[in-house]
Parts: sequence; C-alpha cells; structure tokens
Amino acid sequence: METWLEINLKKLENNYNYIKTKTNTKICSVIKADGYGMGSYDIAKKLEMLGTDMFALAFVKEGERLRKKGIKKDILLLNFVSAEKLDSVIKNNLTLSLYSLEQLNLYVQKVSLEILKKIKFHIKINTGMNRLGFDKNDFPKLIKLIEKYELNILGSYCHFADVNDEEFTKKQYKEYIEFNSKLEKACNKKLIKHVCNSAGTLKYKAYHLDMVRVGMALYGLQPLKTLDENIESIFTWKCKISNIRKVEAGERLSYGNYLLREKKTIATLPVGYAHGYMRQLSNKGYVLIKGEVCNILGDICMDQMLIDVSHLKEVEVEEEVILLGENLKPEILGELANTIADDILCKISPRINRILIN
Ligand SMILES: *Cc1c(COP(=O)(O)O)cnc(C)c1O
Repeated sequence: METWLEINLKKLENNYNYIKTKTNTKICSVIKADGYGMGSYDIAKKLEMLGTDMFALAFVKEGERLRKKGIKKDILLLNFVSAEKLDSVIKNNLTLSLYSLEQLNLYVQKVSLEILKKIKFHIKINTGMNRLGFDKNDFPKLIKLIEKYELNILGSYCHFADVNDEEFTKKQYKEYIEFNSKLEKACNKKLIKHVCNSAGTLKYKAYHLDMVRVGMALYGLQPLKTLDENIESIFTWKCKISNIRKVEAGERLSYGNYLLREKKTIATLPVGYAHGYMRQLSNKGYVLIKGEVCNILGDICMDQMLIDVSHLKEVEVEEEVILLGENLKPEILGELANTIADDILCKISPRINRILIN
C-alpha cells in the first residue's frame, strides 16, 4: 500500500471511557462526516459495543448506510432532510431534528399525516448561532402544529457557539432551558435534553442535562484550548517514500517556481491534495520520518508532494512516513493551513484504506 490510515480502536475506547468518567448522563456519539474522516461504520460498531446511547449524523444517506451494515442504536440526524427522504427516515428508524416552521410545513405538504405522526423528532432551538433552530417567537405556532399533527417529540437541544465565552454560553443555556420548559409543559411530557458538545462536556458539568453530544474528543481532537492528555489521537496517517533524488542548487521543485537555493536530497511521497492533504500546506507543512521533521517543499500536487530529507542519515524508497498522528497533530497542521483540526481530519479521502488496530 502506498498510503493508509491506521485507526486505533483501543484509543477510541480509552477516549470514550474517559468521557464517561466526566459525565453521568447519556452519551450521543457524533459520527457525522464519516466519523470525522475516520470511517463511520467501524467507529459506530465499536462505540455501540461500548454502550453509547445514541449516534448523531448529518444526513439520511449516512444513516441508511449504517443501518444496512447493522448498526442498531438510535440515530439522530442533525442536518437538513428533504421531504422525499421521509419514507427512508421511517424505514431506517432515524430520528429527525425539527428546526423551523418552514421545514414542518414542507413535510405537511409532501407526506401523509400518517407518515408524519410516525417520525421521531428532537426540537432544535436557536439560542444564538442563527444556523438552525426555532426562535422564541416561533413557540406559539410550533405548539399548535405539534398538537394538530400529533407529532412525536422525544427530545430537544441547542448548540453552543463558543464554550470559551462563558457569559454567552450561559445565556444560550438559559434561553434553551426557558424554551424547553415551555415545550415540555405544552407537550405534557419530559424530553431528552442535550446541549453540550465535546468542549461543553469537559468544561460545564452543570449543563450536561440528560445527554451530551461528543464528537471531536472521541477521535482525539482537543476540544479546549488547554491540552488534555487523557484525550489521545486514534489515527495515524502514513505513506511510503516513492522516490529519492539529489537536486542541485538553482533547480526548481514541483509546480510553480519554487527555486532551490542549496543542494538538497528530496523525497517524493505518493500523497497529495486529492487524498485530502490540504494544498494550503504547500511550503508550510511537514511530515515525520523516524521521528524527524521533514519539510514540504514546493506546491503539493494532486497525489504527490516533495519533502526535504537532506538531514536524514539514512533514508530509502519505501521508508515509512507519518503525515498525521499523535506526534504530528491535526491541530498543528490546522494552524499552518489557517484552519481547524476538524477540517484537516474530515478531509482525509474515503478512498484511503483504513486499517483497524485493536
Ligand atoms: C458536530 C456537532 C457536535 C459535536 O461537536 P464536537 O465539538 O465535535 O464534540 C455536537 N452537536 C452538534 C449539533 C454538532 O453539529
């Protein structure tokens, strides 16, 4: 194999168990974007075995795939679901987020009330992100429609914009609680209440409510600004050197006009932006060979890149290279590429083989 992604399921287990020590509530494992690029089925299978209470995904298609492969636990869809997908929602026992009156009206127009009644909903409440979610003013109409169509409402939630801003987070929490209390009263039942993502889970025990929704911490991304050593990367992205050559000073490297100022030994790697290695890391990123830093030189190509191995004592073709992992965290590459660690991770192409390590 020229490049592969090792997924350490034992570390996933450690991260999951660590989160369990941080909360007494249910855990919803967020595995959208193919499990943050790790491969949602293998991740889901392991987490189901570990006893996660629920999964969260973005789209129906992802849910259909996991059901087909045998995942049984409840799946909450966090994102947009068009009306033509509602049959599949019911068939695959998926739970929907209901986030606006317009969305509900679309469903009412396009499917029978029989079907509508069968759908399981969590109500998404807008508390400040202004992305999805009902506003305070929507409440009277929402309640009328819930009663009219006998909707099956099981839970409610909101999402924090920035847990580092304690004042804003508190305001979001308060608004959520107010909305939810009215909702529970009107529905005359208790709902599953959940507001915390990974960062919220670690920072605000008082806000855990009935369930926390944990994504990044499961995979070993750091949710808070401070390093938490209990959270370990579950992934190592590797490749092998495909070519080595000596290049003289004054010659050029890769596309563009990268001019080499001194003689160097250059290795070629069989990985590029088509594998999801960010092109923005051209001339900025680095890889590890036997623990040593090797800088990327010149523009990253579609499925190749060039690195400087001049300082290595011994290096040969087929030598193993680490592109991402415990000692080369996506947080570092994220900073170099002017983005966040999650972005670095979920861009890793699904066409790269995932090798499971137990
Ligand atoms: C992605 C997502 C999460 C998980 O967030 P992390 O920061 O990765 O833990 C939780 N809730 C919602 C609504 C999300 O979209």
